[in-house]
Amino acid sequence: MAIHEYFPAQGRGCALCCYGFERLHAAGEAPLETCPACGAALRRALAAPAIVEGGAHRLNEAHLAKHGYTQYRRVEKGRYEKTVGEGPDVLAS
Ligand SMILES: [Zn+2]
Repeated sequence: MAIHEYFPAQGRGCALCCYGFERLHAAGEAPLETCPACGAALRRALAAPAIVEGGAHRLNEAHLAKHGYTQYRRVEKGRYEKTVGEGPDVLAS
């Protein structure tokens, strides 16, 4: 099982995908490529618990980028900085 977080690859998306959404995938299930609601192309971010804290268990960033992932590193509570991939440089909640 893995949680994938999705954002619209371009444009604003719809009510489901405009701010991103998470989807739980069973092992071996292919990741979504388009939004199930509006059909917009999606990009993936690694959602918790794959987000690394403080770089102690840093994943191989080149590997992640090659597979189309965007990785964020938690810098403080509710704030993440991008380490690799496409997408906004900072996520804050
Ligand atoms: Zn959508």
